[in-house]
Amino acid sequence: MALMLKGARCIDPQVGLDEVCDILIRDGKIVEVGHDLSMEKGVTRDLAGKVLMPGLVDMHVHLREPGYEQKEDIASGTRAAAHGGFTAVCAMPNTDPVIDNAVGVEYVKARANEVGKCRVIVSGACTKGLKGEILSEMGDMHAHGVRAFTDDGHGVQDAGMMRRVMDYASQFDCVVMPHCQDDSLVGDGQVNEGVASTRLGMLGWPAEGEELEIARDIALCRLTGCPLHIQHVTTARGLEMIRQAKAEGLPVTCEVTPHHLFLTEDDITDVYPTSLKVNPPLRTSDDAVALVEGIVDGTVDAIVTDHAPHTDWEKDREFELAPFGMIGLETSLALVLTKLVATGIISYAKMAEVMAVNPRRILRQEPVRLEAGSTADLTVFDPDAAWTVERSDFYSKAGNSGFLGAELTGKAVDVYVGGYATLEDGAIVE
Ligand SMILES: [Zn+2]
Repeated sequence: MALMLKGARCIDPQVGLDEVCDILIRDGKIVEVGHDLSMEKGVTRDLAGKVLMPGLVDMHVHLREPGYEQKEDIASGTRAAAHGGFTAVCAMPNTDPVIDNAVGVEYVKARANEVGKCRVIVSGACTKGLKGEILSEMGDMHAHGVRAFTDDGHGVQDAGMMRRVMDYASQFDCVVMPHCQDDSLVGDGQVNEGVASTRLGMLGWPAEGEELEIARDIALCRLTGCPLHIQHVTTARGLEMIRQAKAEGLPVTCEVTPHHLFLTEDDITDVYPTSLKVNPPLRTSDDAVALVEGIVDGTVDAIVTDHAPHTDWEKDREFELAPFGMIGLETSLALVLTKLVATGIISYAKMAEVMAVNPRRILRQEPVRLEAGSTADLTVFDPDAAWTVERSDFYSKAGNSGFLGAELTGKAVDVYVGGYATLEDGAIVE
């Protein structure tokens, strides 16, 4: 079937495109990009006033299935993703059971094919059970399509173990994506160590607990040559180390989350809002400013949500007892548009790089370009749609957003995966 997307402002820095044009799609592929295109028969969408980009990819998402379906599952999580404008997500392996072998990988892929509303890129654990002791079945998972390995939720504590992970992954040209956390420093830390931990009377999670492992893993990248992608960087010094590593020519990339960009430790008030309990914790405003600068100068490669759904009963308790994490799939695009694009800090082209182009490259996925022959994974949004973040609008099962009540501008309207609409006029296509 043919599909004509008419009159959107089409943006793709990979092909130097930024103009109003039409896109003709047939059999899941872009057939033509141009002006005043016509077709014999098919469906036409009038997208005047909208912006169209290569489909957004969130490379850090917790879908919670298998094992924690009370928080989220593949059906609800991928609907939240499509509603937020994403055509693909990378699912983290810290489920129950942990995705540390090919059986787990095939399970997630099969469920995603059956009930998913976006592509699900499966990442595998580095170590069995995320325990940091024994290598996972990396080769077998690679044979089943895995290209990225992470023990997200945990730092790999032992440097020798991390070296083995990276030596092994480099054989397959896979990327290793560490969650940098030195347990001997972080312990039961709840919030950023410093002003926030003192003010709130809670155990601190020091910046150094993250920075030490960033430094170590960059050193191991130099030693092994293994591509390294640092997850959710939160500190100015951590980012500076990554900047230096890139200048040295090491294969290092990194990501930041909207909550570390747009919230700080100062937002954790004496009502102890557990939705702002995240790992790594919200840092200082100086750190947040540095992360934004990192996006502008290219040190930061990707904006990711670290979408971490939890049930109300888990979050509705004492701060120390509540689990870490906040959801993000349905607010990320609008936050970036409102706080970075509309303010002139970054361009649409830059946004496409950090939310679509670079995540695919880092995860070794086929590129999507706005040109003939490319797979038609596309995101269309209304840059002028003003809305207020309300839980009732979420497709996610969870409500633990740190941005409830925020007034944002910009919203996904249409999303296409392989030429099929998963979202139309802002509603999921079932
Ligand atoms: Zn993490």
